[in-house]
Amino acid sequence: MTARILDGAAVAGQIRGELSPRAAAFTRAAGRQPGLSIVLVGDKADSQIYVNSKLKSAGDEGMKATLSHLPASASLDEILSLIHKLNEAPATDGILVQAPLPESLGAAAMQKVFDAIDPSKDVDGVTPSNVGRLVQNRADLIACTPAGIMELLKRSGIDAAGQHAVVIGRSDIVGKPVSMLLLHRHATVTICHSRTQDLPQIAANADILVAALGRPGFVRRSFVKPGATVIDVGINLVTDAGVAKEIFYEGHPRRALFQRKGSVLVGDVHPEVAEVAGALTPVPGGVGPLTIAMLMANTIKAAELRAGR
Ligand code: NAP
Repeated sequence: MTARILDGAAVAGQIRGELSPRAAAFTRAAGRQPGLSIVLVGDKADSQIYVNSKLKSAGDEGMKATLSHLPASASLDEILSLIHKLNEAPATDGILVQAPLPESLGAAAMQKVFDAIDPSKDVDGVTPSNVGRLVQNRADLIACTPAGIMELLKRSGIDAAGQHAVVIGRSDIVGKPVSMLLLHRHATVTICHSRTQDLPQIAANADILVAALGRPGFVRRSFVKPGATVIDVGINLVTDAGVAKEIFYEGHPRRALFQRKGSVLVGDVHPEVAEVAGALTPVPGGVGPLTIAMLMANTIKAAELRAGR
């Protein structure tokens, strides 16, 4: 069997095509564009790349995105006072703080910053009240990657009802919210993590397997029930030739890419899984583009809700 490839980039394009007219309608009615404020602290190269693609995507969809870039030396108080200012700014409908914050701020800083965001502007679905509403199945603003995964399943005609979904990873931003969303779609959900015993056997029972652990090529063929839907959330930049060799056979185009560039993006799912899965998201071009599309969807939704539309 060769898995059907779930083309996240195409679905993201579809979603974005639906958002532009909504952004235009909002702009006509409100006399301003939906506004997204992105906060970036420090100069982490990959964070800057993610932020730039979010800024570009917002512009393409007819929204006004602005970047507040603080130096890595910014204090927690400075970040919090910026968030308070954005909470009060009438033309800011959505606030996104790019994770991670610099390590020097300490492990608890990210949650303190999330806690300070006005829930009506929380387009990343990270505030305690929006997480609570997600648990109660009445959320308006849901974390973008999990929301994107559910949209991809829906638009690919994959019904989770009655299916056994196994999620590998229990982070606040992916594993837990996607598990909750699958449960709301009536799947029977098992969540695995680093202490799970017999993980490959549990995974091999899944009709829908979501890999969100951040370990390149971790999910092997033996973890996958023939015909299962496999969602690969992982984005891992592999720079080690040995790891690249283990994941991509000689002659694989992505191995050639590694040889040219010295690095390659790899998901949490080994490419051999395509031979056994029924459907599979590629990396890149699977879940990643959907995350950005859902950020745009959340921004427009927040703008509409705040305006009472
Ligand atoms: P995270 O916060 O580091 O969480 C990783 C989770 O995986 C943890 O719950 C951890 O378990 C579990 N885990 C780690 N090693 C494991 C192992 N060997 N066996 C079983 N479970 C293991 O990561 P995250 O933020 O959720 O991100 C996960 C991956 O998705 C990363 O590659 C990230 O880059 C990618 N990502 C992609 C997008 C996108 O747009 N496509 C968005 C967000 C994240 P414990 O809790 O026990 O430590």
